[in-house]
Order: sequence, then C-alpha cells, then structure tokens
Amino acid sequence: MASSGPTTSDAVSGRCLIIAILVTLLGVTGTLAAPWARASQGDFEARLNEAAELNITAPWRESQAVLDELRPRLAEATIEQRARFELIEARNLILAGDFEAGLARIDQLLEQPIPTAQVLRARTLGANAAIVSRRYNRGFELLNAALAMPGLEQYEQLASELLSLASYAYALVGQPELGLEYGYRAIDLAREHDTERGLCVVQQRMGFNNKIIGRYEQARHHYESGLEACEDTNDELVSGIIQYSLADLLRLDGDLEGARALFEQALPRMEATGFPNGIAEARLYWARLENELGNDEKVTELVTPALSAFTESQAWDYLAEAHQLLGEVAIRAGRHAEALEHFEARLAANQEFQDLDRNRRLAYLEVEFDTRFKEQEIELLREQTRVAQLEAETQRQNARLRWISVIFGLLLILALALWLARALRERRHFHRLSQTDGLTELYNHTRFFELLEEAAARVRRDGKELSIVLADIDHFKQVNDRFGHLVGDEVLRHTSRVLKEVFGPSALIGRIGGEEFAIALPDAGLSEAAERVEQLRKRLAGADRRRTDPPVTLSFGLARLETGESPEEMRIRADEALYRAKNSGRNRAEFAQST
Ligand code: GH3
Ligand code: MG
Ligand code: MG
Repeated sequence: MASSGPTTSDAVSGRCLIIAILVTLLGVTGTLAAPWARASQGDFEARLNEAAELNITAPWRESQAVLDELRPRLAEATIEQRARFELIEARNLILAGDFEAGLARIDQLLEQPIPTAQVLRARTLGANAAIVSRRYNRGFELLNAALAMPGLEQYEQLASELLSLASYAYALVGQPELGLEYGYRAIDLAREHDTERGLCVVQQRMGFNNKIIGRYEQARHHYESGLEACEDTNDELVSGIIQYSLADLLRLDGDLEGARALFEQALPRMEATGFPNGIAEARLYWARLENELGNDEKVTELVTPALSAFTESQAWDYLAEAHQLLGEVAIRAGRHAEALEHFEARLAANQEFQDLDRNRRLAYLEVEFDTRFKEQEIELLREQTRVAQLEAETQRQNARLRWISVIFGLLLILALALWLARALRERRHFHRLSQTDGLTELYNHTRFFELLEEAAARVRRDGKELSIVLADIDHFKQVNDRFGHLVGDEVLRHTSRVLKEVFGPSALIGRIGGEEFAIALPDAGLSEAAERVEQLRKRLAGADRRRTDPPVTLSFGLARLETGESPEEMRIRADEALYRAKNSGRNRAEFAQST
C-alpha cells in the first residue's frame, strides 16, 4: 500500500529547514557586521565582526579561530561585545554538533544582563538548537520566552526569524493554525523590511503548514512565492526543498508528469548542497510518486540510499514510510521474507516515531500548561495585590473614620462642656438675679427676708442680738418729678453704695420696696444700729453728697429682735417706728416700741 497524502509524517519535512534557520540567523549577524569590519580593521570590534561573517561564509572552525585569538582580549570588551562573542561561539558549538555545550553557553548568557536584542537572538538560537536536538521542553520554553518579549517586532529581521521558527515549531506539535498565524506575521515583517532571505524561509514553512492541513492551493502559493525569493538570494538549499515539496503537491493534485519533472530538477540540486537530510527527504517524496506509478525499480533505487540518513537523524516517520514502500515492492516481487523484514522495521520505526511525537507534543503541552499556570498564578497574585490594596485602603479609611470620630467626639465634648459652663454661668446669673435687685444689686425683698429668718435662727441659737433698720427716702416722688426717673435711679444706686459702706459686710442689706431699704445687723443692739444710721445720715448729707445730686434724706425705723419674737413681728414694729419718723417730720430715726 502506497503511503500518500500529507500525514503527520510530513510534519518532519520542515526538519531540514531547521539547519537553514541556523544558517539564516548567522546570516543576519554577518550582514549587520560587514560594514563595521571594513570600517575599523584591526581592533576588537572589527575582528569580532569578522568572526561573525566567517561564521556564515566559511566552515565554523574558521570563525572559531578568530574567537580563540580574541579571547585574551575579552576583558576589555563591552558587555554587548562579550554577548556577541558568546553567541558566535555557541553557534559554533551547535554547528559542530555539540548541542549540549551550545545550549549551556546560551543558558549562561541569558543569566547575564545583556542587551535585549542579544536576549532575543540567544533565545531564538537556543530554541532552534533545542528543537533540532529534540530537547523539546527547553525548545518551547525558549521559544515562548522569546515570543513573549515586549516590542518584539521592532527587532525586524530577528523577529521575523523567530516568528518563522515559531511557525515551524507549532506545526510540528500539531498546532498548524497557530503555526500559520506566526507565519503570516513573519511574512509581513519580512516584506516590510524587504528581506528576501527571510521571505524565502518563511514561505517554505507556510507552504509546509498549509500542506499538512490539506490547504494545497495556499501551500502551492506559498511555495511559489518562496521559490522566487530563494532564487533571488541564491539559496540553493531552500530552493531545492521547495522544489521537491512542490513536486509532492503536484503528485497529490494528480499532475504526475509535472511532479516527476520537478523531482528531476530538485534531487540533483539537493545533492549539490550535500545536506543529507534534505537529499533523503527528496528521495522519499519522489519514491511516493514512483510507487503510485508502479515503478518498483525506481522506488528501490530512490529509497534505499535514504535509509541510513533517516536512521542517523532519527527521522523515524520517514524511516517507517521508506520501509513500507520497500516492503510493498518486495511483496509485488514475491520476496516475502524481505517484505516481512521491511514491515517489521516499519513497525519498530513507527514505535520510535510515536514515542518521539508524544514527547514533542508533551513538551509543547507542558510548556503551554506552565505558561497558562504561570498566567493564572500571576492573575492570582494580581488579585491578591488588589485585595491587599483594598484592605489597606479600607484600613486607611477606618483610621480616617476613627480620627474623624475621635475629633468629632472631642468637639462634641468641648461643645457640651462649653454649653454646660455657659448653662452653669447662666444658672448662677439667673440665681443671682432671682435673689438680688437689678438696679442696686442689694438683696431683693424675698431673699432679704429669707436671710433674715436664717440670721434670726442663728443669733437665737448663739444667744446673740439682732437689730433691724427700715429706711425710706423722703419725698422721693418729688425727686422723680423734678429731676426725672433716671436721676431718681441714680439716687437709689448711690444710696445703696453708701448703705453698704456704712453697714459693712456683716450686715444684710435689701431693697424691699421702690425707695425703701431694710438692714439687718446680726450681733448688734439698737445703740450700735442707731450709731450707724447717724453715720449714714451724715455721709449722705455731707461728705458723700455730690453737687449735682438732689438733696436726699431718709427716715428710719429701728427695732431689736426680742426673745420669742419672729423676724416678721420685729419688722412690723420697725415699720411702725418708720411710720412715726415720717409723721414727725421725716429725716429722723425712731425706735420701735418694745413688746
Ligand atoms: P414720703 O416721704 O412720704 O415717703 O414721700 P414719697 O414721695 O417718698 O413717697 P410715695 O410713696 O408717695 O412715693 C414713692 C415714689 O417712689 C413713687 C415712685 O415714683 C418712686 N419710685 C418707686 N420706685 C422707684 C424707682 O425704682 N425709681 C424711681 N426713679 N422712682 C421710684
Ligand atoms: Mg415709701
Ligand atoms: Mg418715701
């Protein structure tokens, strides 16, 4: 049975291109380096550029010779120069087949602080080498890290190379759609920056990607565009690969003669490049056609020399297909034992391929899973940060609220204290008002007699004396009438002041009527009371008389609290005495009659 059509085994056809990528990557450095080399021959920079150029144009040992010569001067190199030195050496190691050492070099370089462009170059080269050497985990890790670099497309050619590699790598692990996406971006970049070489490589890959998902029309279109670009850059290797790939497409399309014509051109071209993997692939593709045409001899002739190349490069799917074809030929020729051997070899190769393919997909999935897991972790961390920020904000708000409530509370307490103090003041004020006379500030009628009761009780308890004086201004009505009420008021105030001065702090003095006063003298008998009254009369008439004041005299009634007598009874007696003083001509003092 002929193995025809694009199966997963075709996925490996891009493998040959991997080597081409390495060459391309070196090419970039070379193109950039060349003008510098010419400009300043002899110094470190120029020699380094020379090494980079030799890396593409000559066998790797030649550029390595330059690097070895430069090594003692590495100490004087800049970080950037050292990074480039390391990258060229890493490439040399890879080209020499020492993938282990090359990748280790790249890992070391990536741990150092180097310019972003060198990071991108290192990751792309590393991913490429890791995938070629079947270190798929490391390959996809480096690939994803490079693809995730911000502002990737500004690195033009480098970015185009990376995207091109991604296009191949994703198709390889059964993600052709993703491969196409990267491929289109690589094509856009290559077109934008006018790099035929980049276009040649990526178009080949896009042809391959489209072919494995059965989009032959598109595949053919990409191959044709790629071929044009490759011929322009004299890229024999990729041109050859595209030719035999196109031929395989023609076979699938039923154009068997056209396909054969193309294979006849492509195989010698591949053989001229000396690239064993490419040659073997071309032979296998062609053998598919000859198998369909029934040319058993041609099939054997094409496939047999490819077997060792497939085994060596561990191209297990191709090896399985090759044994399948040879087995079918053997059966048709009746060589059953030989057929059996081929089918057994096919089974073994298939087993190997499946292991490889599984590993490859697993590596991709693992890295993909890691990436998603990391993204989720990052999202979780972001969420935690947001929550922490919210908490901090809430705490700040709580602290603010606490402060506000403390301040508000303090203000409230202060306001209450002020209000309380004012209320107390007002209370005291009204209390005083309720006890004193506003005009003269003497005790009012009510308060005076309250205090009189208390004083009477006290002196009675202590066995002491108490006298009372009632005083009434004479003809006060006339004062008001002649001088007006304001002057009348002033007379009342003046009289009160003199009363206080004469009778002293121990006396209780009240205004008990309009122009009538009462004075209680604890510890004083009638004679002392009369003495004081006399002093008062003198002061009002003489020393304390102001020129502007109207002449003021008072009449007085004096009484002494007698045993068993109430203060009220004493007051009535004093009142009677006052009445007598008035009636007997005023401006005089009369003593109350004893009970
Ligand atoms: P007498 O010598 O008989 O006491 O004659 P008088 O005019 O003093 O007595 P009367 O009782 O006839 O009049 C008292 C006057 O006192 C009447 C009133 O206009 C006046 N008076 C009472 N209280 C006040 C006051 O607070 N201010 C003023 N300016 N006059 C007052
Ligand atoms: Mg009176
Ligand atoms: Mg009077």
